[in-house]
Amino acid sequence: MSNELSETANHLVNIAHQNSERLLVLINDILDIDKIVSGQMRFNMVRENLNDLVKQAAEANKAYADRLNVSFSLSLPEQNPPVMADASRMVQVLTNLLSNAAKFSPEGGTVVISVLNDADKVRVLVRDSGAGISDEFKPRIFSKFSQADSSITRQKGGTGLGLYISKQLIEHMRGTIDFESKPGQGTTFWIELPRATALAA
Ligand code: ADP
Repeated sequence: MSNELSETANHLVNIAHQNSERLLVLINDILDIDKIVSGQMRFNMVRENLNDLVKQAAEANKAYADRLNVSFSLSLPEQNPPVMADASRMVQVLTNLLSNAAKFSPEGGTVVISVLNDADKVRVLVRDSGAGISDEFKPRIFSKFSQADSSITRQKGGTGLGLYISKQLIEHMRGTIDFESKPGQGTTFWIELPRATALAA
């Protein structure tokens, strides 16, 4: 008898594996919310270079985007003034934006991630060419468990908690997060963090 699993058993193991990964994401999201709400979340705020954090996040999410046949295109300035941020929380937020952009992109789509230096802040933009966000859903997008279409979650994963957590994390780092979207014309999310020098002043 062969040691290999039958096709059906293999399929079931894969489903079980995917389900346990989804459960893990949900558990981590709920633990994060609990820490945020109780004020127990610690932020290690140090000078960071946003170009580096964007590169890390793009690298970490490349395999996911590849699976969906979506590519990332980075447009980074040569130099970045430093911002004050917790690197791992910042990568967590960027991961949320990049994975959403990939998830809601059409097959073969490109997600453009740019970093822009403004006078007193640095901005990261994540632009996709997906279906966009309806005007009706826009006011709820940063709320807990909000999803425009839960059937996409069943197909591609998601908890509806990512943007709620992202907004809390960014605001704790004294930044802002927002988006612009026209149905049928894609979506751009952006994050702004004050320059470290602007905070010191
Ligand atoms: P999820 O885990 O469901 O992705 P999020 O809080 O990250 O949770 O996003 C909430 C919902 O906002 C998504 O389910 C989707 O309906 C909508 N959304 C987020 N990003 C995009 C995007 N780039 N394009 C279209 N819809 C989006």
